[in-house]
Amino acid sequence: MHGSIMDYPLTLPHFLERAGRLFGPVEIVSRLPDRSLHRYTYADFYRRSRRLASALQAMGLNKGDRVGTLQWNHYAHLECYFGIPVSGGVLHTLNLRLDPSDLAYIVNHAQDRFIIVDDVLLPLFQQIQDRVQVEKVFVVPLTGAPVTGMASYEELLEEGSGDFAYPQLQETDALGMCYTSGTTGRPKGVVYSHRSQILHSLVECLPDVLNFSQSDTVMPVVPMFHANAWGVPFAATLAGSRQVFPGPHMDPVSLLELLQGERVTFTGGVPTVWMGLLEELKAHPERWKLEPGMRMVVGGSAVPEQMIRDFDRFHLEVYQAWGMTETSPLGTFSKPKCYQAGLSTDELYCFRAKQGLPAPLIEIRTVNEQGVADEDGETMGELQTRGAWVVSAYYRPEGPVDNWTPDGWFRTGDVATIDPEGFLQITDRTKDLIKSGGEWISSVDLENALMAHPSVAEAAVVAIPHPKWLERPLAVVVLRAGQRVGVEELNAFLAERFAKWWLPDRYEFVDQLPRTSTGKFKKTALRERFATPGEGGADEP
Ligand code: AMP
Repeated sequence: MHGSIMDYPLTLPHFLERAGRLFGPVEIVSRLPDRSLHRYTYADFYRRSRRLASALQAMGLNKGDRVGTLQWNHYAHLECYFGIPVSGGVLHTLNLRLDPSDLAYIVNHAQDRFIIVDDVLLPLFQQIQDRVQVEKVFVVPLTGAPVTGMASYEELLEEGSGDFAYPQLQETDALGMCYTSGTTGRPKGVVYSHRSQILHSLVECLPDVLNFSQSDTVMPVVPMFHANAWGVPFAATLAGSRQVFPGPHMDPVSLLELLQGERVTFTGGVPTVWMGLLEELKAHPERWKLEPGMRMVVGGSAVPEQMIRDFDRFHLEVYQAWGMTETSPLGTFSKPKCYQAGLSTDELYCFRAKQGLPAPLIEIRTVNEQGVADEDGETMGELQTRGAWVVSAYYRPEGPVDNWTPDGWFRTGDVATIDPEGFLQITDRTKDLIKSGGEWISSVDLENALMAHPSVAEAAVVAIPHPKWLERPLAVVVLRAGQRVGVEELNAFLAERFAKWWLPDRYEFVDQLPRTSTGKFKKTALRERFATPGEGGADEP
């Protein structure tokens, strides 16, 4: 027997229509490159997103065609978040922190037909322009400076029509895509569907998750090019929340000005951002008056318990979340249960510093050599997950992939425990990656590049703790007999291939590298030996 309920598709046009019809006067605020504030309403956003959709169709966009965005967090990017998918296109957010060669690879691999780029990011785009095959580039004129030789996003919108009809969309159709760093080799593409994003948004809005409502003012600091800004722009639009976007100004004082001036009630980003903010709050407590009880979702890297305690002193509530590009990204969210209210303050902080409970429609388990591990809060295993917005395959993978178990769980590459209350705690990771200020660095790629230097016999790169970026790369190098080479020369050698923030801050020269029984570099031993925090670090994550 089938249910007799309509087979109503879970697709994004519904969110856009709802937002336009019900929340027209609600404000959307964006900080522009010149620091001025751009203000408009959901009614404007609705009209312009539909114009974008219709203009893209007029340009010949077919269902499933990819449109790349190389943009900061602002109103035009929000229009792309909606306008591209409701036209039948696929929103492909491009990570502006990537090395140009990876960026060019991603654009070509995804076969982006069009790219919409901020004028302030043109210098970056120009580095890949000759290497990518895109049909047309549209420039978002954020600064108002004239752009020659390229089409304007505003002119594109003018070509759109107000009475645009949405194409027939299936809920399993692609809505967007995002590439994630691989341990080795090229980044891998994850394709989100309309259904997965709708369900993800609904669950994010739940009270024990992000708890979005019309009375919220929501500001995603997490970049819109990273895992859809954790889905926050979709969920906030569903809820009809007021939205604030920081544009390219991500320094602590600029963020605090916006949080205070716009009376933000919810914000989210990686720990590095909030550490900087905390320093400023501690240094000038009299200067800042944020909304008491402002919620801050922090994730992407482990959140230090001390940070949660420190923000509590300013009446700002930190919630930790764990997720991945492959999980859309919400996986777990850490909020103690009501019946835990009687626990001591220290016990409660202990729970809040864990990665948290799986979101509804997400399952987690940990698996080790003995099989599925006990949920005793102590037995570690590889974290595996499955659920309504977990990736089931990479997009056109190059080479073999072993990220799924035979029984259909996604292998995260994180190592974790799960306690009897169901709280996840990440303890380590098996993937050979370093997460610096929220963005990935591949240790294996750096090692291979270093070992291509004529003076280097062997090199291992490991993550070491850093007070600001949380992790930074340390290179442990064995030189060839009789060779001498300085750190500057090695970094100059690497700089030909990698972005500046990838370069190791520290080198250690040793006679030999410790190895495991199977002959691999014993990175745990290196991490332990050189764990003292590094000095300095890149200017930018
Ligand atoms: P990405 O796909 O770039 O968002 O990275 C996902 C990975 O970031 C996860 O597999 C973890 O290794 C790490 N990660 C994300 N959130 C957390 C967290 N709250 N604590 C520790 N690691 C995290």
